[in-house]
Order: sequence, then structure tokens, then C-alpha cells
Amino acid sequence: MELYDGIITHTGEFLSQRPFQRWDYDPSAAWEDAGQSELVLGRDTAYELGGSGTFAVHYTCVTGNSALVDRDEILLYGPDLGELRKDAHYARLCFLNITDPGGDDETAYRAIREIEFVKYHVFPRGFMLRISSTDQREQVRLSKEAIRKGISFKAVGFDFIKKYRENPLVKQVRMIFITDTSIDYRTLERNAKTAADITGTLTHIMEGIALNCSACTLKPICDEVEGMRELHLRRN
Ligand code: SF4
Repeated sequence: MELYDGIITHTGEFLSQRPFQRWDYDPSAAWEDAGQSELVLGRDTAYELGGSGTFAVHYTCVTGNSALVDRDEILLYGPDLGELRKDAHYARLCFLNITDPGGDDETAYRAIREIEFVKYHVFPRGFMLRISSTDQREQVRLSKEAIRKGISFKAVGFDFIKKYRENPLVKQVRMIFITDTSIDYRTLERNAKTAADITGTLTHIMEGIALNCSACTLKPICDEVEGMRELHLRRN
């Protein structure tokens, strides 16, 4: 469960010293979930997070270390949804503290994948997510009606946490939203790529690639991420 810890720590250091807002999780204040994907048409759109060529970064990291994620909370860096007037840079980062599912590495791997897939089952009304699994982009189209009704990152984040907490393994969730224009989103993109590479390498190891580091294209990831090589050794 420690594979993503480096990314969580790095993100914390990267964002430290920056102003932010914070809210403790309150399920009663969650934004309404539509229960299924809904279409926000162009004419009904207020703006897009990640639209018009702006950044749209997302990554999810799980850990078993309660010191890294110790409460359910929302953090916001930059303007809230009601303050934005046009397409804007955007990042949504999700860090989860989870209980060790027990069993072997395969059980842990399946638990991680299941938790990652939760993001495809969250449908905040008027907040249409478009997630690309190939380049870690997560674009969002905001409806004019949702803006009129007072949608906020806090309420949307609560909806996400609610869904994650339906999984009994999930203990705490930290959701981070970023719209601050002064942030170096390229750094966040690199973290998103590393997180995706870790998951991809895990998948390959679980699928049974032979242990041969000298000829393996995944070596840069295993050199960088503590615990990955040990995991493949155990798997063999
Ligand atoms: S441990 Fe070696 S063989 Fe296994 S994925 Fe990493 S680099 Fe490749």
C-alpha cells in the first residue's frame, strides 16, 4: 500500500506555503448526485474546467499510512466554482487511506483498482465529468443551472467522499481541488503520469510478466518507486 506514498508526500510539499480553504466532510451537505451520467449541452454550459486548452489534471493515490491521510476533508486552492467566469485550469487530486484488505498482493491490487473505479460512478448534478484514462485528463462541464443553485467544490467533494466511503476498506479521503492560475500544473501532470505508471506496472506484474529487470521497459518506474521491485520478486 506504500507504492503511492511518494506522490502523496510530494504533492503535500508542492502545495505547502500556498493559501487554501479547508472543510471537514459533512455528508448532509453533499451536492445532489444524479445517479447516472447526464449530458450538459453546450448552450446550457457556464464554462469548462480544463476547457479551451487549459490544464485538466487528475490522479488518485491510495495509502495504508494514516499519517498521510488522517481525516475526511476537502482542500481548495484557487477560486471556487461560483467565482469562475470562463474556462479555467483545474486539478482534482484524491488521496485515500485504506485498510489493508489482507490476503496476497493480488487481493490488494484488486482492491486498489476497485477504489480507483469509483470515480466513474460519481455524477454530481450539473458537473459533467469527462475522464480520459489514456492521458490522465479530467475535464468538467459546469451547467448554468448548477452555478445558479450555488454548486461549490466543497459540496461536489462531499459527493465524491460519500461514494468512496461506500467501500468498506476506505477509512479517510482527502480531496484536493485546484484552480489557482499560479500553480505549475506541469508538475501535477508529472505526478499524474507517475501514478498511472505505477498502476500500469502493477497490472503488468499481476498479469505475470517475467522478472527480468535488465530487459524490462518498466525499469524507470521500479527504480523510482519504493516497494515495486520487491512486489515483483514476491509475485515470482
Ligand atoms: S521489477 Fe524488474 S522486471 Fe519487474 S516490472 Fe520492475 S523492472 Fe520490470
